[in-house]
Amino acid sequence: MIIGVDIDEVLAELLEAYLRYYNQKYNTKTQKEEMFSYSFREVLGGTEEENQQNLLDFFKSEYFQNIKPVKGALKSINLLAQKHRLCIITARPHIIQKETEQWLLKHFPDDFHSINLTNQWHGKGEKQLKSEVGKKQNIQIMIDDSLQHALDCAAQGIYVLLADFSYPWNQTSEKLPENIKRVRSWEEIVAEINSYGKKHGRG
Ligand SMILES: [Mg+2]
Repeated sequence: MIIGVDIDEVLAELLEAYLRYYNQKYNTKTQKEEMFSYSFREVLGGTEEENQQNLLDFFKSEYFQNIKPVKGALKSINLLAQKHRLCIITARPHIIQKETEQWLLKHFPDDFHSINLTNQWHGKGEKQLKSEVGKKQNIQIMIDDSLQHALDCAAQGIYVLLADFSYPWNQTSEKLPENIKRVRSWEEIVAEINSYGKKHGRG
């Protein structure tokens, strides 16, 4: 199968690193558990300009270079890459394309068939929806922690595994579409992909 994989909070602990950068700068103690939104400004406050500048500074910092992989991701991606074609589809901006490729190469060498940045995070340049890229890459499944991207892909007929590793920002009281499945760990993601493959004759 062809499977789309998000980076941040699915493979990479970006938020944890960003909060370390942010808390150090502002002498605050905001925890990941308090992030009810993945729009950092909604939770942390400040002006749009400040937030954009903070992101740029963060991208240049050691905090960003040293982002840790998400628990269970290394082993599971390695396993999945042996059977399936894995494509990175991230909302990250084009300005960090090189750093993104380097981080993936360091932690997931040769696991990904393509790396696609949809540029939805920061300022300038052309943006794409994840569903557009997903359609182009012919993915059957998308793994993402964002409710917004999950709904976008699901509306285009892509089966979505919504990574919810106790993530406050992707909770909702609304009923999710049938083709979005909330998953709690990387082990569950692998199991879901196996059973999806069997159901659709693509074991
Ligand atoms: Mg993400």
